[in-house]
Amino acid sequence: MDGINNISVAIVGGGPVGLLLALFLDLYGVRSVIFNSDPEVRRHPKGSTHNSRTMEHHRRLGIASRVRDLSLPINRPTDVSYYTRLTGWELGRFPLPSEAEKRRAVAAAATTDQIPEPLLRANQMYVEAFLLRYARTRPNITVRFGCSVTAFQDDEAGVTVEARSHSGAETWRAQYLAGCDGGRSFVRRSLALRYHGFAKLDSPHYGGRMNATYFRAPTLYRDHLAQRPGWNYWVVNPHMRFVLITLNDAEEFLVFSKGSDDAVPPTDEGMSELIRRGIGADLPISILGHWPWTAGVALVAERFTAGRVALVGDAAHLFTPTGGFGMNTGMDDSSNLAWKLAALVQGWGGPGLLQSYETERRPIAERNTIAARELNKHLIAMPAPPEMEDDTPDGATARRLVSAHLSTMGEEFASIGVQLGARYDDSPLIAAGGAPPPDDYVHYAPSSVPGGRMPHCWLGPGRGYDDSLFDHLGKGFTLIRLGGKPADTSSLAAAARERHVPLKVLEVPAPEARDLYGCDLALVRPDQYVAWRGNASPADPGKLMARVTGSIRCGVHHDR
Ligand SMILES: Cc1cc2nc3c(=O)[nH]c(=O)nc-3n(C[C@H](O)[C@H](O)[C@H](O)COP(=O)(O)OP(=O)(O)OC[C@H]3O[C@@H](n4cnc5c(N)ncnc54)[C@H](O)[C@@H]3O)c2cc1C
Repeated sequence: MDGINNISVAIVGGGPVGLLLALFLDLYGVRSVIFNSDPEVRRHPKGSTHNSRTMEHHRRLGIASRVRDLSLPINRPTDVSYYTRLTGWELGRFPLPSEAEKRRAVAAAATTDQIPEPLLRANQMYVEAFLLRYARTRPNITVRFGCSVTAFQDDEAGVTVEARSHSGAETWRAQYLAGCDGGRSFVRRSLALRYHGFAKLDSPHYGGRMNATYFRAPTLYRDHLAQRPGWNYWVVNPHMRFVLITLNDAEEFLVFSKGSDDAVPPTDEGMSELIRRGIGADLPISILGHWPWTAGVALVAERFTAGRVALVGDAAHLFTPTGGFGMNTGMDDSSNLAWKLAALVQGWGGPGLLQSYETERRPIAERNTIAARELNKHLIAMPAPPEMEDDTPDGATARRLVSAHLSTMGEEFASIGVQLGARYDDSPLIAAGGAPPPDDYVHYAPSSVPGGRMPHCWLGPGRGYDDSLFDHLGKGFTLIRLGGKPADTSSLAAAARERHVPLKVLEVPAPEARDLYGCDLALVRPDQYVAWRGNASPADPGKLMARVTGSIRCGVHHDR
């Protein structure tokens, strides 16, 4: 490419978080370029948990059903079960629904059910590949995979980005830059921003250095797992602990096991042997790859924004995988940042908008990283008494002890409060309006008190696409008129028009929705958060519009 390429937003990193940011910007009509060092998405498995909020983001983009098609086989339960060996004693089981059962639950859900998009189990590598394919079809996204960002410089008017691919160097000029470049973020390090928090959790198992081993075993599911179908199989005994994760309909699996402290990767033979011993049977295994990772981390960048640059996803926070919160928190970052960048690029966002991304999302990163680490502590506290594999009364007692411990761990696979309950009560963009529900990782209480995710309801008897309240929101702000009362909202609409703020007025006459919201009017942001509520238009609608779009500047300011 010759000369300087102009673009609205430059995204460094084409992992799930960068791809989602590009897709949201595309939805809002904003042009972006997305750079990724590798020419394609990585062909190695990571997490399999796409939580309800992430699925709501996919729904907003109109791709939720296509992402759902990447799930484990539709009728397979997603149980998590624990064994001494897979051919030994079963210690316990969390029964969890298949994708088909989840869809049936949605079809039968009550009008005000809060989970229009249940959590999905599908490996990240399949979903990332789909997101990249989809991004390549979008008119506002320039995909530069196989192209690394090597330098950037921001100034009053924009950011100059230098990148390099096999065909040479290229220069881009963007209004904003998003660093979605993962845990070793080049963007974060260039800004000299450090992570704070916990770098590891020392434990002989499921703490510190770990291995993820990707392998193929054509007979494993058929011969050893099909009788007890599930998603996650734990092996716990005094000699070993690992978790075996099913990835697709038959042959491919992932094992997480303790790594060596001297960072030497395992050998294929050694891992195959460990897996066979944990299963308790000889079977053909071919190893596809090993990747190191660290369990127990809970790290958050000291700042999420600097000038015209924002850090997003793992670049801003690093999780231990317990609970499956890492990517999901990053996806929520993208949803929060995308509309703010769109507002700034399109000229209706105020000067406080980019800073509000940090004000709103950094506390959520702190909250969620700590929640994951607490779940990790339950995991490492799991006992494995020496006699637990014995067929004796003492062996039975030992197994009961381990089973009893499992009752502390079920929340790892649910945590609906973490998924849907993130709140921005202290944000300068939120117009206070009542007492927020308590923060609770385990439960989610729908509330229209400004600062939280808008409560969900179904608008008709169907439960398909277009039947959710979420499917009827505008791309900008939405003013929801609830309960069929003809409250005069013309002054609010006029204030939005004056500031060029995109605003859709949506009538929701259903009494159940009015009861759920407990108010006649709710102003909802593009990221589906309630910004304001009331029973009549505010006394000063212009001031409200200025507040919710970041024109009333408050909060932390950073010197650069
Ligand atoms: C074992 C394990 C299990 C996990 N399970 C889950 C789970 O179930 N649910 C969940 O939510 N999370 C899970 N996670 C976390 C999840 O994988 C990460 O949070 C997620 O991948 C972060 O996405 P990202 O887009 O921020 O960064 P990444 O996925 O790391 O992507 C960053 C991208 O940036 C590119 N890049 C880096 N530098 C540059 C540069 N200079 N120029 C251009 N490109 C660059 C990289 O090549 C990479 O493709 C798990 C993690 C691990 C290790």
